[in-house]
Amino acid sequence: MSEIRTIGILGGGQLGRMLSAAASRLGLRCHIYEPGAAPAGDVAWRLTTAPYEDETALRAFAESVDVITYEFENVPTSALDLLESLRPIRPGRRSLAVSQDRLTEKTFLNEIGLATAPFADVPDQGALDEAIARIGRPSILKTRRMGYDGKGQVRIGDGPAEWTGAPSVLEGFVDFSAEISVIIARGADGQTAAYDPGLNVHEGGILRRTTIPCGLPARLTTDAVLIAARIANALDHVGVMGVELFVTPGGLIVNEIAPRVHNSGHWTQAGCAVDQFEQHIRAVAGLPLGDGRRHADVVMENLIGDDIARVPALLAQPSTQIHLYGKAQARPGRKMGHVNRITG
Ligand code: ATP
Ligand code: MG
Repeated sequence: MSEIRTIGILGGGQLGRMLSAAASRLGLRCHIYEPGAAPAGDVAWRLTTAPYEDETALRAFAESVDVITYEFENVPTSALDLLESLRPIRPGRRSLAVSQDRLTEKTFLNEIGLATAPFADVPDQGALDEAIARIGRPSILKTRRMGYDGKGQVRIGDGPAEWTGAPSVLEGFVDFSAEISVIIARGADGQTAAYDPGLNVHEGGILRRTTIPCGLPARLTTDAVLIAARIANALDHVGVMGVELFVTPGGLIVNEIAPRVHNSGHWTQAGCAVDQFEQHIRAVAGLPLGDGRRHADVVMENLIGDDIARVPALLAQPSTQIHLYGKAQARPGRKMGHVNRITG
C-alpha cells in the first residue's frame, strides 16, 4: 500500500464531496480547504474554511495532509506556490496552468498538434475588432480565466461587438454535430485508463445530460481517447482529467480540458466497477488504477435549480441512482445533484 493516508482537497463543492466519499471507501481521509460554503465538508475528515490568501491556514492545511489535489482549477498561484513548498500537488502545476487560462490552453493544444476552434487573444477593444475581422461571425468572446457553466461568455452575432473589460479570447463558432467528452485517469507511473466517451447535451451553457454509449462510430471514439491520452502524457498529468470535444465533419476539435474529475464523468458511478472519483483518489495516492471498463449503459442527468423538486418521484424509479450534494438552497442554474439511470 502507499504511504498516503490523508489527502488535501482544494475546493469543497460536490466534486470534493464525491472524492471524499471515494477516498473513505479506500480507508483514506480527506481534508477540504474551501473559502465559501462546502458541501464536501459534510462527508470529509476535516474542513478548513479560509480564503486562499490566508497563509497560516494554508500552511496548517498542508501540514495535516500527505498530498494535495483539487476539485477546482482556479486556485490562485500564490496559494499554490506556498502549498507546493510543503506537499506535492497532484495533478501538477502544468496541468493547472494550462487549464486555468483559455489562451494558454488553446496555444498548448495547437502546439501538441491538436485542433481547436480558431482563436485570438483579446486584451482590448482594438484586438476584438481585429479578431472579429480575422475569425468572423458568429463567434464567442470568453474570459481567459474563471469561466464555468458558460459564465463569462458573450456570443458575437451581427450587432456591434463590445469588449467586456476582462482579458479574453475570441473563438470561432464551431458548427458541431455533437459534443463528447473523455474522462481519463493517469497514474504517477504513466499508466492510463480512459472511460468510454459520453455524449453531452448542454442547455443554457450548463451540462444537462450525458449519455453512454455515445452512439458515434468506433473510429471517432478511439480518436477521442487517443487525443485525451496525448494531452495527459504531454502534461505529465497525475489524476483524472476531462477532455471536452466537438464532433465536426472535419474531425474532432478540442474544446477544453478540466484537470480534475468532471461532471460528464458522473455516469461512471453507475456504469463502472471503479468510478472517476475512486480513480482520481487512486492516482493521487499512488495506488494502482482500477478497472474502468463499462458494464452498463447509463444516462446521467443533472438536477439543476428547481429540478430538486423531482427527487421524490425519482426515488421511486427503477434502475435509478440519485446523488444529492447537500446544498441548502436551490437557485436557478445551481447544480443540486444528479441522477444516473441504467438503461441497458
Ligand atoms: P463548463 O464549465 O460547462 O465546461 P465553460 O464555461 O468552461 O463550461 P465552455 O465549455 O467553453 O465553457 O462552453 C460551454 C458550452 O458552450 C460548450 O459545451 C458548447 O456547447 C458551447 N460552446 C463553447 N464554445 C463554443 C464554440 N467555439 N462553438 C460552438 N459552441 C461553443
Ligand atoms: Mg466546457
